[in-house]
Amino acid sequence: MDMWLKEGQIENAAMTYKIKETLVRKKTEYQDLAIVDTYSFGRMLLLDGIVQTTIKDEYVYHEMIAHIPLFTHPNPKKVLVVGGGDGGAIREVLKHPSVEKAVLCEIDKEVINECKRFLPEISCALDDARCEIFVGDGIKYVHEHKNEFDVIIVDSTDPFGAAEGLFGGSFYKEIYDCLTEDGIFIAQTETPFYLPEVVKRVYNDANAVFPITKLFMAGIPTYPSGFWSFTVGSKKHDPETVDLSNSIDIDTKYYTKKLHKACFVLPKFVEDLTK
Ligand code: SAM
Repeated sequence: MDMWLKEGQIENAAMTYKIKETLVRKKTEYQDLAIVDTYSFGRMLLLDGIVQTTIKDEYVYHEMIAHIPLFTHPNPKKVLVVGGGDGGAIREVLKHPSVEKAVLCEIDKEVINECKRFLPEISCALDDARCEIFVGDGIKYVHEHKNEFDVIIVDSTDPFGAAEGLFGGSFYKEIYDCLTEDGIFIAQTETPFYLPEVVKRVYNDANAVFPITKLFMAGIPTYPSGFWSFTVGSKKHDPETVDLSNSIDIDTKYYTKKLHKACFVLPKFVEDLTK
């Protein structure tokens, strides 16, 4: 008998995946967690029925959310990842030798535990000596730390439930205060194809707080529409015009120095959301 998973992030449209087996399924304190093995994307983490990451396409999201801000900052030493319990963003952050400490602030310890168990390719750097894991609410953590991080990565679930407060002006002001004087923040900011109003609102909220705000896109096959946006807020360094000629080479599959510049060139309907 064939088993198919229907992902339901977007109303009235859905992606389906043929499943080999369910590796774990449990209700945590915060969400319904499942890791399933699929024929087309390998093992896949779902939270509340929404695909978070898969073995086959995870590199696009994790490389872009980490390397755009880390190659923009001239000397990133201390990095905070809010959410991101699968560990993929931390794995990419720790490819930068300048990073002395990377803090992961994830609200749901079960995400960390199950990703360590079933997605070792993604979670492999969570045991690195430079990684510190804090289980708790990112909103509270950011509020309690001032002027501390060179880069903050908001690798969150969609703007509902525990992650709702991670999108919006008051959180971006707290992030601004948590960053050092030339700090940079980045967040995954949803699909401009299905949720243009969310992308526009988040961009405007970040733009009201940061002197430099830029939106870029990456192609992520398992996210609705494949068109995915990220928003960068920076106090000093512009991610689009930064000089990358002397930046180090690291091992990547999606990110390149050329793409770092090119990803800020937006399709018209997305560019319009930033006006
Ligand atoms: N790449 C993913 C995506 O866009 O689909 C996000 C993956 S990551 C697993 C998202 C994580 O954010 C989840 O594990 C969730 O528990 C965590 N999270 C949600 N709200 C949070 C909060 N307020 N503080 C810290 N972590 C939070």
